[in-house]
Amino acid sequence: MQLYLDHAATTPVRREVLEAMWPYLTGEFGNPSSHHEMGRTASVAVADARATVARWLDCRPAEVVFTSGGTEGDNLALLGIARAMPRGRHVVISAIEHPAVSESADFLARHHGFEVSRVGVDSAGLVDPEEFARALRPETTIASVMLANNEMGAVQPLRELATRASERGIPFHTDAVQAAGWLDIAVSSLGVDALTMSGHKLGAPKGIGAVFLRSGLPIEPLIHGGGQERARRSGTENVAGIVGLATAIELAESDRLDRVERVTRTRDAFIDRVLATVPGAILTGPRTERLAGSASFCFPRTSGEAVLLRLEERGVTCSSGSACAAGSDDPSPVLLAMGIAPEVAQTAVRFTFGGEATDSQLEDVAGALAVAVAAVSSLA
Ligand code: PLP
Repeated sequence: MQLYLDHAATTPVRREVLEAMWPYLTGEFGNPSSHHEMGRTASVAVADARATVARWLDCRPAEVVFTSGGTEGDNLALLGIARAMPRGRHVVISAIEHPAVSESADFLARHHGFEVSRVGVDSAGLVDPEEFARALRPETTIASVMLANNEMGAVQPLRELATRASERGIPFHTDAVQAAGWLDIAVSSLGVDALTMSGHKLGAPKGIGAVFLRSGLPIEPLIHGGGQERARRSGTENVAGIVGLATAIELAESDRLDRVERVTRTRDAFIDRVLATVPGAILTGPRTERLAGSASFCFPRTSGEAVLLRLEERGVTCSSGSACAAGSDDPSPVLLAMGIAPEVAQTAVRFTFGGEATDSQLEDVAGALAVAVAAVSSLA
């Protein structure tokens, strides 16, 4: 068995994406700022890609800023908005944000005198809109809650959260890095003012992403230079990456609903099997309000890393939490925020599927998992 179940960490570049990118890496390698034919070809490719991304975000093309990925996008949204209009120097985020958001908020606290409020989550990892609303203050500059969590897949009641912020005139950002390609990311239905996405989570290469920034929202750029991206993000555009991102979104959206239905069924069967066959297994995150391709567990009295290694020996590639925290011995702050004890949080294992894992492959994974957990528990 060779099975890659770590799509939340990254995904392979899709063939169609690479093919769409190829011309802009070879014959049509112009710089979009150049005033000659090759430059114009590159500039048209970027404009077309921007229009495609805008179509799926349901926003205007001018509201899309291409970045180097999710981390830069989150930084640009938080730091860019907060520094352009410091208002009362207060930021509200959830307790389970990716470090790209939480560390940006902490940076604002360290260097710009902001106060950061972290809204807690329930045991399933969900933010309560009323609790979120209570954290908002007249002086809140920006609020940010992720659409879907990278460690345990919880999907937040985003529309309700965004409404609470907009009722108070507070700009609301969401990190949709894990959600893009799986959930509706139309900013009109989500009701958000800023949204981040990243190419490598949906079949485009690493190092490309996009941020939606509602027009009229003041932005202080992070990167200064030649004024590309309407001066919101200077630097020669990653033309091939931008074309790749647009192609990947187009492809992911074209079969999204069918894929989500199919993957959800497969995932639910996998979760049921794991809970039934692995003694002591605990599902982390909500049972239903979760990303289609996400199943995450804790196996008390084991070690997540040890289980992972045994699965890898059997050809199953998964993760012991978020890729960013991998290698760290600290229990995940996300799982701690959900009230999971540190010694249990250390045992987390995350399986994230694309669309290709079959029921029978996942039955085998559940079997391998039961063996791995039994072997590791007997050593404990
Ligand atoms: N936000 C979330 C929720 C993520 O899962 C990730 C990547 O794991 C990021 C942001 C960072 O994105 P990138 O790897 O493109 O910098």
